[in-house]
Amino acid sequence: MASGPKVRSKGKRKPTKRPHSKKSDAFRIEDNKIIRQKKICPKCGAGVYLAQHVNRESCGKCGYTQFKKA
Ligand SMILES: [Zn+2]
Repeated sequence: MASGPKVRSKGKRKPTKRPHSKKSDAFRIEDNKIIRQKKICPKCGAGVYLAQHVNRESCGKCGYTQFKKA
């Protein structure tokens, strides 16, 4: 094992700020009907949405994964 000081990579760190949109894209209202854009995790319940993937939907909180039917 080398006993020298740890070399840290130089370089400016770019702040990874994401623009916070105040508008919720979880659902939208159309013709007085609430159309859900995202699916709610059946394990975590309301407020936790499943991440949309190409062939599956997964919950980032509990790890629940639901495969889409082709
Ligand atoms: Zn969950």
